[in-house]
Amino acid sequence: MSIAPYKDLSRLCIHTITTKPWAIETAARNYAAAGVKGITVWRDALDGRDIHQTGKMLRNEGLTIVSLCRGGFFPNTDKNKRKLAIDDNRKAIEETAALGAPLIVLVCGADPAQSLEDSRKQIQEGIETVLDEAKAAGVKLAIEPLHPMYADTRSAINTLAQANDMAEAINSPWVGVAVDVYHLWWDPALEQEIKRCGQQEHLLAFHICDWKSPTTDMLFDRGLMGDGCIPLRKIRYWVEATGFAGFNEVEIFSTRYWKEDQSAFLEKINKAYLEHA
Ligand code: ZN
Repeated sequence: MSIAPYKDLSRLCIHTITTKPWAIETAARNYAAAGVKGITVWRDALDGRDIHQTGKMLRNEGLTIVSLCRGGFFPNTDKNKRKLAIDDNRKAIEETAALGAPLIVLVCGADPAQSLEDSRKQIQEGIETVLDEAKAAGVKLAIEPLHPMYADTRSAINTLAQANDMAEAINSPWVGVAVDVYHLWWDPALEQEIKRCGQQEHLLAFHICDWKSPTTDMLFDRGLMGDGCIPLRKIRYWVEATGFAGFNEVEIFSTRYWKEDQSAFLEKINKAYLEHA
């Protein structure tokens, strides 16, 4: 296998949370000025804003709105809390449509008070419950498997095989999966499961960053591409071999990088993308 590095930034997208200290307006202006072409919007970035207008602002900057992050968190032992989660996912679908984005990424959730199997059942029920609304809004739903270290509370879907199984069980053109290298790089079945995504034509998003060694925080110590041990270019080769032609989305939660000057950090992202993605 071999794959050439990118020569330009035309397939680079950045998640707003990556440059969390910036308001979305500042992020949009600076991403566009730096040549970044895509943006994925985290819901907290929309707080207090008119979502239609924000979508317009992003498009006026020349950015493609790749997705909204995030929906999900379906499982709960308490039926009322499951209903609240469904309502929140309906709201996320409305927000995504208002923004003019085609996709919601689902961090599916888990409740440590019940089995992972029960949590997965509730995830599937939750997705199926909002499916008609997603379809009516023209919004796809991407199941994002999370690293097993998050299986207690963040997601009962921890491998791409499990995400593929669920997408196939739901069997709708409006449901697919998101591949995030941070969560999946360790999985010996990754190549085969990425192939399976391609055969099902449901690979909807590709998230990139790096796994630092040592990692000092389970949530907020993600690395920039090249900082760690993820074989990113190999995984990108597998992803592109399926025909995936979407964005490479840089999604980094890092208290270390959030403390830096964000303009300097953005320059580092672009450089790391061209060197390591
Ligand atoms: Zn992700």
